[in-house]
Amino acid sequence: MAEEIEKVKCLIIGSGPAGYTAAIYAARANMNPVMYQGMQPGGQLTTTNEVENFPGYPDGVTGPEMMMQLEAQAKRFDTDVRSGWATKVDFSGKVHKVWIEDKKEIHADVVIISTGASAKYLGLDSEQHYLKAGGGVSACAVCDGFFYRGQETVIVGAGDSACEEAHYLSNICKKVTMLVRRDEFRASKIMMERVKNTPNIEILYNTETEEVLGENDLVTGVRVKNNKTGKVKEIPCTGFFLAIGHKPNTDIFKPYIDVDEVGYIKNVPGRTLTNVEGVFVCGDAADKTYRQAVTAAGTGCMAALDAERYLAAKGH
Ligand code: NDP
Repeated sequence: MAEEIEKVKCLIIGSGPAGYTAAIYAARANMNPVMYQGMQPGGQLTTTNEVENFPGYPDGVTGPEMMMQLEAQAKRFDTDVRSGWATKVDFSGKVHKVWIEDKKEIHADVVIISTGASAKYLGLDSEQHYLKAGGGVSACAVCDGFFYRGQETVIVGAGDSACEEAHYLSNICKKVTMLVRRDEFRASKIMMERVKNTPNIEILYNTETEEVLGENDLVTGVRVKNNKTGKVKEIPCTGFFLAIGHKPNTDIFKPYIDVDEVGYIKNVPGRTLTNVEGVFVCGDAADKTYRQAVTAAGTGCMAALDAERYLAAKGH
């Protein structure tokens, strides 16, 4: 039984660049947005060191700093930013019901989903250590590859993302070693061939990561094991990249919102509309292709504009 029911005009779930941009636009359009920040306030960028590809920051900015600035900008226009996360929704009726931590019940005229996606990691203690230390572990080559220019890097994965990111790194780094856990790729043939034909990419099949090695919180290499022969070896590198897939944070919406086979929310092409009237989606929850802060921010703006038009058409 819910403790209390609160009625809001515009509820935004999730606080990455998509959510905050939606909040800025919604607030400036007098939609009185209420935002729940979710489990990881600030989203994936809070695990990124330096952001150099977001327009408007000529000297770069750290991920956490950028998220604090986005939050401040949303609050400047009176977005009600709250900590807490949505645990259940009911989008079956006219009123969109959302429960916060199974207790508080919110009834919203419009809901903007900006819950993002989470990069998958191997889960090794050493990997998590250097990830948190900002010392050379990353799940986004496009974001962080530049910091390893001229250096040697290792990337794990064998899907289209891994191929795309390995190729991206190969243009920046001296050498890229790709760790493929089976004896074949999952990626499409064309992507795989491109990787195979790139001279400074070495592919190690049947190879799994045992430990990320380092000194003074900086990655210096990786110890790997061939799962067929049992042979162990160390590969020197300064950057260790993961490209083993993402999981969109959309589970709670699935009973009502159409998602693809991986869980990405299906939106009307070129718009932010979902299959439920008055529920909009932006950012990585619906984007498996670009996954950039700036594209997430762009769709956040679109979601707020779509929501505003929806409310206007309803006479709100
Ligand atoms: P995928 O799920 O397609 O691939 C994940 C890869 O990571 C697989 O090779 C998998 O190995 C490997 N992997 C998973 N867990 C581990 C682990 N613990 N240790 C080692 N390796 C692991 O994810 P992607 O992000 O590559 O792609 C997602 C979707 O996006 C796909 O549909 C893809 O086609 C699409 N995409 C398309 C692009 C394009 O067309 N330009 C670009 C990027 C993505 P295994 O094969 O053994 O399971």
